[in-house]
Amino acid sequence: MTVEFYRVEPSARTSWRLAVLMGANTRTYKFALGSALLEYAAQDRTEVTLDELAAPYAMGLVAHLAEAPQAPSGAPLGESDFLSVARREAEESSRLGRPTERLMQAAVRSMPAMVMRKFHNLGGGTEVAHRFYELGGSPRERIVRLTPDLRRVARSEQAAGLRAELGARWSIVESSFAAGVGRSLVADGVAVDWATLKLTDKLRRRSVTGVAEALIGFQHGRCLICTDPIAADDKTAVDHVFPHSLMRRFGSVSGWQGPDLDVIWNLAPAHDTCNGAKSDRLPTAGELHRLARRNEAILQSPHPLRKTLLLTLRSAGHRGGPGQWPFFLRQVQTLLGR
Ligand SMILES: [Zn+2]
Repeated sequence: MTVEFYRVEPSARTSWRLAVLMGANTRTYKFALGSALLEYAAQDRTEVTLDELAAPYAMGLVAHLAEAPQAPSGAPLGESDFLSVARREAEESSRLGRPTERLMQAAVRSMPAMVMRKFHNLGGGTEVAHRFYELGGSPRERIVRLTPDLRRVARSEQAAGLRAELGARWSIVESSFAAGVGRSLVADGVAVDWATLKLTDKLRRRSVTGVAEALIGFQHGRCLICTDPIAADDKTAVDHVFPHSLMRRFGSVSGWQGPDLDVIWNLAPAHDTCNGAKSDRLPTAGELHRLARRNEAILQSPHPLRKTLLLTLRSAGHRGGPGQWPFFLRQVQTLLGR
């Protein structure tokens, strides 16, 4: 399925999205690395020293550590684990506005063998189709070469969106760590707060991240209705692909026997103008096809969004394996179109 996601838009940007959105997460290191890489590549740097890369990497983790855990609850952390060092050095580093010497040393020591080795991995022994950096230099001074593909991704018209997606993904993963992966977010899921257009963690009643930022990467940064990219300065709406208002046909919302239309499976970022023009009509075949593909892509990502979608499929009697979305969506179409 990750192959399918790549096939739709074979590009370095899609490889980047695969690494950020769909790679496994036992820590949040890859988000910190991705964020630091985008920062330097946006300046069109062709290489940085490992020390240079380590500074925003470590400070990103320090900032996030202040808000939420960066590893699953109950994960064993040794004394020398980078996260243990980061916790000990967080306060002093925040005060300094840069990593302490000890934190820098721990980052530089651990990055090559850990996060930098794994960033391109997709699990199952596969890697994304592009390389975003190469580690070189001497053992005394390590150099990180930023590839042309990385610089292209970081300077493309979707660059601001990629940064927002990465931030959203980071928040989603750390909130699932905080809630206990596999427990509450399976049972309670994430809900949409329509007043703020944020995803909220139902159990902890905390805002997690924006709905649009959380979902748009799985749509390749494109509007589900017109398929054009959503640019940084476009007004974005969250479309109910099956309009909520159609449920009024059933006399009351409680007369509706189908799945909840207010949750992730049915929500898609779109241009505000496209969303306005669509109004209350049923989705087109093209929209349904793209929604099925988008939902399949989310099922390839670890943690809460995936689990929320699995719950939707299972509550409608589907097993939740790959390829179920077209059938599921057709059922809803039949129910609503009556
Ligand atoms: Zn559009």
